[in-house]
Amino acid sequence: MRTIFFILLLTCCIAKAETFAVESDKGQSALYPYVDFVEDRDHKLTFDAVTALPENGWTHNKAEIFNKGYSESIWWLRVHLRNPSDGKLNRFLEISYPVLDYIDAYIVSSGTLLQQYKLGDKFSFDKRPIEHRHFVLPLEWKSQETITVYLAVRSSSSIQVPLTLWEQHDFYNVDQTRTLIHGVYYGIMFVMIMYNLFVYLAVGDRNYLYYVMFVLCMPLFLASLNGFAFQYLWPNFTEWNDQSIIVALAGVVLFGSIFTYRFLELHKMHRLYRWIAVGLNLGALIIIGLSFYLSYSIMIHILIPFAALACIYAFSSGSMCWMQGGLSARYYTVAWTSLLAGGVILALNKFDVIPKNTFTEYATQIGSALEVILLSFALAERINQERRMRFNAQQDALTTERELRQAREEALAIQKQATESLEQRVKDRTHELEKLNQKLEELSATDQLTGLKNRRYLDNTLAEEFARCARYGHTLSVLLMDIDHFKRFNDTYGHLIGDECLKDVAHSVRKGLRWPSDRAARYGGEEFCVILPETEMEGALTVAERIRRNVELMNFMVKDQRVPVTVSVGLAVIKPQPHQKPELVLEYADSALYLSKEAGRNKVTVHKQN
Ligand code: GH3
Ligand code: MG
Ligand code: MG
Repeated sequence: MRTIFFILLLTCCIAKAETFAVESDKGQSALYPYVDFVEDRDHKLTFDAVTALPENGWTHNKAEIFNKGYSESIWWLRVHLRNPSDGKLNRFLEISYPVLDYIDAYIVSSGTLLQQYKLGDKFSFDKRPIEHRHFVLPLEWKSQETITVYLAVRSSSSIQVPLTLWEQHDFYNVDQTRTLIHGVYYGIMFVMIMYNLFVYLAVGDRNYLYYVMFVLCMPLFLASLNGFAFQYLWPNFTEWNDQSIIVALAGVVLFGSIFTYRFLELHKMHRLYRWIAVGLNLGALIIIGLSFYLSYSIMIHILIPFAALACIYAFSSGSMCWMQGGLSARYYTVAWTSLLAGGVILALNKFDVIPKNTFTEYATQIGSALEVILLSFALAERINQERRMRFNAQQDALTTERELRQAREEALAIQKQATESLEQRVKDRTHELEKLNQKLEELSATDQLTGLKNRRYLDNTLAEEFARCARYGHTLSVLLMDIDHFKRFNDTYGHLIGDECLKDVAHSVRKGLRWPSDRAARYGGEEFCVILPETEMEGALTVAERIRRNVELMNFMVKDQRVPVTVSVGLAVIKPQPHQKPELVLEYADSALYLSKEAGRNKVTVHKQN
């Protein structure tokens, strides 16, 4: 029983694929149920050997997409295609996995090799029979003919061989739509690159440059993966084909993580974020470097988990910043979500969890385009935010400046006022001081008791007048007066009444003067002196006599009784000479005074020069 089951199972496994009958009215047919394959691990099988293989040497493919993962082997595929009609037939056989390295295609009819093609991205683009980013073989049938297509596939990428047979018009029709969708995607990317590049050149913010590099790597990666890059960018540069996928994806990680780090300002976050960012950058650079030496299959095994890690890093840092309240971080996170969603939808689609349709087929492109657009929004929002902050700061600065200016003006006004009032006060004080000085001078020149000038003043004035008269040859007259018997007066009435008497005599002396230039001073105790500049003998005598009479006629009362008071006067009249001293005139007057006393007092005596 067990043996029977085993045989049944074996038969089932090795049951050969049927021949596919090409239906004339069907536009496209997936050929996977009609494929047989052989694995050549040691690369020993030749085409002849393969065609000579017994039927049980072939294995029937059951998977919807022929997928053997990463494998060093050469995989031989075979499909029989029959034209059941009586007319000729044309079809395209499409292998829609453009990164396969080598595909040797053999087209055989009735044991004869009709055509041989060398496909794969290790051959330059112009070797392809149909210029298309996928590998497309033109097939032709005569009536009732059966064609067998053999494909020897070898690649450092994963071995996936999705085979579709197309009616040619349908192929071009569908392809037009597919190309248009891709075109829209690359168009969006191109616009975003150019726009942000110009923004970078205008604004100079390096975030834009990293963003541009990031956006540049993203479509480059997808274009390398789906054959557009080979077709349009480097159709002869076959060596670069596999490597471009690695470099572009590593570039996405590199610039994506730099951009993330700078954009989200992760240096403000935990140190761990910085280290992860540095690690990702270094890793991406190392991967780019290694891609020049190591094979694609090794590099892609390193890169895929690395890129996944970077994606998680970007996504988690974005969410973290969002939670901390950044508006631009919100855009950022939604952007990454759309890319991740695109990736997840593609994966689910590949694992048959969700059905294949136009949307799921282009999920990566849609996700990436959305991401790029949203990131651009995020950048704009960031710039906006900064501009708002700068504007506010500027407003603050302006307000502060205005306030400052106001304060300065007020301070100046106060200072001015203070200076003015200070100046006024200084002026007032100076004036007061001048007045005081004048008063002091007057005081220092005045005799306290009588109010006449004092001896100091007299000496100075006499010296001046003496010199002046000497210079101009004028006459100078000087009177010297002494109260008669004043000692006795004091003794009789007391010192205080004596002082009162002195005041009255001083008054009489002053009264006796007529010219403003005449000066009277208290010469000492009860002696007075009068200087009469430019006064001749006659005038001087008149003055002397007048003073003497004034005193004589004075009504000095003590206890209602008139007390007679008299003075003796000595008069000196000289024409001063430059060599003479001013004291001389006083000596003369004094000696004349002495003569008056001698002569009985209450008299005027003129000094006579011998
Ligand atoms: P003679 O007629 O000879 O001048 O007699 P006399 O008494 O006036 O003599 P003398 O001139 O020598 O006397 C000066 C006196 O004048 C002395 C003093 O008592 C008096 N005397 C001087 N100065 C003052 C003063 O300031 N106030 C008063 N009350 N008396 C004074
Ligand atoms: Mg005297
Ligand atoms: Mg006297």
